[in-house]
Amino acid sequence: MGVRDVLRRVERATRPADPVTAAALQRRWQELPASAQTPAQSVGGHAVGCEGTHGVFPKCNLTCSPCYHSKDANKVRVDGDHTVAEVSRQMAFLRQERGPHAHAQLIGGEVSLLSPDAHAAALAAMRAHGREPMSMTHGDFDLDYLRALVLGPDGRPRLRRVSFAAHFDSLMRGRGGIPRPRSEAELNPYRAQFADMFRRLRREHGVRSYLAHTMTVTPQNLAEVGEVVASVPGMGYSMMSFQPAARVGDDRRWRGGLGEVGIDDVWQQIEGGVRRTVAWEAVQFGDPRCNRTAFGLRVDGDWFPFLDPDEPGDLEVRDWFYSHLAGMEFVGIPKTMVVLKLLRCFIEHPSAFGVSGRYVRRMVARAGGVRKLIAALVRQRVAPLTFVVHHFMNAEDVAPAWRMMEAGVAAEDRRVRVTQERLQACVYTMAHPETGRLIPACVQHSVLDPGENRGLRTLLPLTVIR
Ligand code: SF4
Repeated sequence: MGVRDVLRRVERATRPADPVTAAALQRRWQELPASAQTPAQSVGGHAVGCEGTHGVFPKCNLTCSPCYHSKDANKVRVDGDHTVAEVSRQMAFLRQERGPHAHAQLIGGEVSLLSPDAHAAALAAMRAHGREPMSMTHGDFDLDYLRALVLGPDGRPRLRRVSFAAHFDSLMRGRGGIPRPRSEAELNPYRAQFADMFRRLRREHGVRSYLAHTMTVTPQNLAEVGEVVASVPGMGYSMMSFQPAARVGDDRRWRGGLGEVGIDDVWQQIEGGVRRTVAWEAVQFGDPRCNRTAFGLRVDGDWFPFLDPDEPGDLEVRDWFYSHLAGMEFVGIPKTMVVLKLLRCFIEHPSAFGVSGRYVRRMVARAGGVRKLIAALVRQRVAPLTFVVHHFMNAEDVAPAWRMMEAGVAAEDRRVRVTQERLQACVYTMAHPETGRLIPACVQHSVLDPGENRGLRTLLPLTVIR
């Protein structure tokens, strides 16, 4: 290889975003409805969005109400070979369509029903296609399972870093030790115990982790969200994500009037939990009726936003970031590569020094000043904390809106049009390499899952007759 080739390679490798990602960003921006093309919009501006698996292991061993899984989900065998092959196929397609780096969820039914080896192999397949994986779980597994997952047969870590989203809420049924929780507070020891396992993993084996806490919200537990926000992050969770319940999946699990909870209702509770306004308008993922996100820092139990939408300097940082670092991945690539990419960007755009310097000063002041921050750092009381509300849509709204979209019809009815706009701006994608399509998760769960799971029942029956 000649010097020119080497330089060309270095030039390409140190671009903030790979050309495939840059093209995907542009495509995503053009696909967004005009209402979502705002300065705050991250999709197309910075990120292509999140990804998830489907049709892999739909079975779950809890019996929650509500539940998003279709009627046949529990009649499908959990099969490691099928999972790894299917995950690999889906991730390869996502890589081809959306570029070499993204965040993807290993999601189906319950991930810990996979054997530790199959689970580890599925995560490795995701990483092999440039996906930073997060395993979605109900959190009801023990340290032995976790150790078997991250350690190889030689007792040494085969996974250096793991990410889990653990779902805990009082609507869940069948958790070991607490099959019918009567309140959110009753679950706190289980939430803490789950996070503790990952601390031990770090201490004993050097394996790092990222933990998100997820929770379904209905009128039944809405009033307890604030208390969860106040008590859970300190246990070791870096993200608190809430999903107002949507009517999707097995309607036998929708007993009683579960009612509607809006995204604003949950946000109000979050603000009550942190005892301050949690502004989310600086960065938007897709449609604001689907997603709300606020990134921040927890210092000595108090939360401070990374970006304040009322602070022009913060918006300047956001705009600078979107303009010059669009599509850059910070996790899942070597740290030296992150540094090199940033260095190149700073050299090419020296305004970065002023923008970032002013931002750091502002952020330090916001978090209480240098002394407070250093003292909290010493006591290990500083950690990032992100709040998310993701409001899935009801199947009865998604199905007709999607049918019309497939026929190329823009709805005139307001409710259907809103659903179409949200689907167009979707940030949570599932891959269908067999049809060459990328499908919004709402469509996957509302429209495609029932048929897919019926097919899986035949392919992977619970009882194998030999
Ligand atoms: S999965 Fe549904 S609720 Fe979530 S972003 Fe996509 S369309 Fe919106």
